[in-house]
Amino acid sequence: MTPVVPDPVLSVANLRVSFGQTEAARGVTLAVARGETHCLVGESGCGKSVTALSVMNLLPRGIARTADHLRFQGQDLLGMSERQTARLRGDKMAMIFQEPMTSLNPAYTIGSQMSEVFERHRGATRRQAMDRAAELLARVGITAPGMRLGQYPHQLSGGLRQRVMIAMALMCDPELLIADEPTTALDVTVQAQILRLLQKLQQELGLALLLITHDLGVVARMAQRVSVMYAGEVVETGTVAEVFAAPTHPYTRGLLDCIPVPGMTRAGEPLGNIPGVVPRIAPGFIGCGFRDRCTLAMPECAQTMPLRNAGGDHFYLCRLPPDWKRAAAA
Ligand code: SF4
Repeated sequence: MTPVVPDPVLSVANLRVSFGQTEAARGVTLAVARGETHCLVGESGCGKSVTALSVMNLLPRGIARTADHLRFQGQDLLGMSERQTARLRGDKMAMIFQEPMTSLNPAYTIGSQMSEVFERHRGATRRQAMDRAAELLARVGITAPGMRLGQYPHQLSGGLRQRVMIAMALMCDPELLIADEPTTALDVTVQAQILRLLQKLQQELGLALLLITHDLGVVARMAQRVSVMYAGEVVETGTVAEVFAAPTHPYTRGLLDCIPVPGMTRAGEPLGNIPGVVPRIAPGFIGCGFRDRCTLAMPECAQTMPLRNAGGDHFYLCRLPPDWKRAAAA
C-alpha cells in the first residue's frame, strides 16, 4: 500500500528505467494532486531527473520506460505515440530545467521562443502569441516585458533567464509543472526569489508542481508532500509534516543530519555526513540499495525490502521497525 492521493493530476506506479547495466528508476511510485507541491529529494544520481524525463517522455532515444501505469489526468502516457505526447508537452504538461542558458536557444529572441509554444499548441497568430508572452513576462516579475521580448538569452542575467523559462512553461496554462532543480545554477539571493515566485504561481494557478531538489530546506519551505529517492527508489514518502516530524528511513535521517535545523542544531555542533557515494544498481538487484552506507545494516538487508507504514500517509522501505530510533535510544 502507498499514499492515496485523490484524483491526482499525475500518477506513476512502479516506474522502471534502465541504462544498460544500471537501473536508474526502480519501481518509482508517486502521485501529485492539483494545487499540491510534491518534492522529489535525494543526492545527484538517485533517479530524480530520470523520473521526470520519463513522465515527459524525454528519455534518450532507445531508453525504454516501463510501469504498472503512468497517467496524466487519467490519460495513459505509456500508450501514447510520440506525436500525442508532444501535443501534451509544453501545453498541459510543462517542465523547467536546471540551466536556463542551455534550455533557451541562443540564436532566437525571447519573444520568438515564447511565442512559438503558443502558436504551435493554440494555433494563435504571432501577435496574439507575443501579447501572451508579454503578459507572462510581467506576471513572473520582469519589468519592461515588451523590450525583453526582443532580447536574446545572453543579454539576460541567470535569474531573468530562469524567470523567462517559468513564463514560457506557463504559456499554455499547464496543469502539471515539473521543475528540475530550477535554482541550482543561480546565486543564493536569486534562488530565494525564484522559489518564492514558483510558490506564488503554484498557489495562484492551482498547479500540480513536481519539484526536484537535493535541498531539504527547499522541501520544508515549498512542499506539502515529499518522496525521498535513493539509488532509483523512493525510500520514504509522506506529507512533509509527517516526514520531518519522524524521518524513519536511515537515508532520510542522514540527509537531515547534513543540514542545520533551526531550534535543533546547536551553535558549533558539527553537521553530519553520509560517507560513500550513491551506487549504480544493476537490474535484478535484491535488497536495500543503501546497505553499503548504512550504519544500521544487518544480514536481512540483503533480502527483499518490505514497504512499511510509519503512520498515516507516511511509508518507508527498510527492515527497521517504525520506532527503531526510540528503541535504539532506550
Ligand atoms: Fe539500513 Fe537495512 Fe534499513 Fe537499508 S534496510 S536502510 S541497510 S537498516
